[in-house]
Amino acid sequence: MAKGLPKRSEDYSAWYNELVKKADLAENSPVRGCMVIKPYGFAIWEKMQQTLDKMFKDTGHSNAYFPLFIPKSYLSREADHVEGFAKECAVVTHYRLKNAEDGSGVVVDPDAKLEEELIVRPTSETVIWSTYKNWIQSHRDLPLLLNQWANVVRWEMRTRLFLRTAEFLWQEGHTAHATKGEAIKETETMLHVYAKFAEEFMSMPVVRGVKTESERFAGAEETYCIEALMQDGKALQAGTSHFLGQNFAKAFDVTFSDKNNQLQHVWGTSWGVSTRLMGALIMAHSDDEGLVLPPKLAPIQVVIVPIYKGEEQLAKISEKVAGIKSELEARGISVKFDDRDTLRPGFKFADWEMKGVPVRVAIGARDLENNTVEIARRDTKEKQSYSLDNVESVIADLLDQIQENIFHKALMFRDDNITKVESYEEFKEVLETKGGFISAHWDGTPETEEKIQEETKATIRCIPLENEEEEGTCIYSGKPSTQRVLFAKAY
Ligand code: AMP
Repeated sequence: MAKGLPKRSEDYSAWYNELVKKADLAENSPVRGCMVIKPYGFAIWEKMQQTLDKMFKDTGHSNAYFPLFIPKSYLSREADHVEGFAKECAVVTHYRLKNAEDGSGVVVDPDAKLEEELIVRPTSETVIWSTYKNWIQSHRDLPLLLNQWANVVRWEMRTRLFLRTAEFLWQEGHTAHATKGEAIKETETMLHVYAKFAEEFMSMPVVRGVKTESERFAGAEETYCIEALMQDGKALQAGTSHFLGQNFAKAFDVTFSDKNNQLQHVWGTSWGVSTRLMGALIMAHSDDEGLVLPPKLAPIQVVIVPIYKGEEQLAKISEKVAGIKSELEARGISVKFDDRDTLRPGFKFADWEMKGVPVRVAIGARDLENNTVEIARRDTKEKQSYSLDNVESVIADLLDQIQENIFHKALMFRDDNITKVESYEEFKEVLETKGGFISAHWDGTPETEEKIQEETKATIRCIPLENEEEEGTCIYSGKPSTQRVLFAKAY
């Protein structure tokens, strides 16, 4: 592992790209826009998955799996949906290759043309609602609360590792309900699940809100979102939860007989978070030395590095470490003993700093004599010597403190970077000099939203749920407005 990242203050984007590589998280693949997630990166994603999966099950959902391919005609059934996704669809047209007659390699066999072209799923509403039609007949079949973990493909033109890729991993929840009220409640419940996950596990504060009409999911009546602020002052949409109304039920003719034996269309929701959360996690806390991971999602929470000369010292240290390691593991803490004998301690320190391990323990021959260890925390880089006697509880406490500390640091940063403005001049100035979220009055029209985006590249990230009504005038049009919305430049 080579040392040295570009500095965030000098080139934030280069810093991010290098960090993803140097921390061994992911790399680009031969196919543009697709990524290889490396074992260390995947271990973090697995922790996210496990945590979210439990939260979904605790709120009554079950997992299922639907196919990768969607018949093209299905996608067209819901007009807004197809319009939203058409521009980024990968299409399968043939099912066989053959040897080229001129011997130049293999070519698509024109005789193996599919009768109906298939879309590689960009999202699964259509295939799932076509299945729900067979599963739902009566009010007794509702609610249907399913989730799937899958990969999807959206042929994005401008891609960044994790943040925006052509293929990404995600989960997509798809639920069906008897009433509008129940479906809206589900949409909100899942938004809060996402927000809780972001704040309690990723230590990343988020704003909960709803999208404006132009940013809404294609086919939804309402899109709820969580928005986070990255260290460079740009916003990132970290998760979405959609109230679908009866749109997909109508498109796929999914009806149920209610308690009075009346046929009604089913109400739906869908909600998803993706490997973009990895990008959010990386950018939320990391520094110029590397990754900073919240302990709850760190694949390795504690690394122990022996400082020794010769086999004999290493043997003594290893014996002591074995005891510490098993006691920590008994508390559910994951520990790595880095006894690689080809690398110097200083190199190992930098390596684990780059990988964001929250707590580093160094133990040498003199420590054994003194019954001490040196403990360093990744978030503040503080180092301190502790007695070996109660080192396990010191470390357990420290992990909790780090989890809290990085949340508060991110929260302070976020709150310092929400700026209220009263005029378009002020808006543009804050956007250029400070960035972050800008809280401003907007007249509620897509035209104004579009104009502001064209002129400044800032978009309305959301209308915050905790908004209070406030009389004002739109910063752009001067027309009356009843509430502020949050603008930002976004990933
Ligand atoms: P959507 O289905 O568009 O509401 O997106 C669901 C989730 O996937 C959201 O949390 C998005 O932030 C995320 N997402 C959308 N497009 C991409 C992409 N190209 N790469 C990674 N994540 C994405």
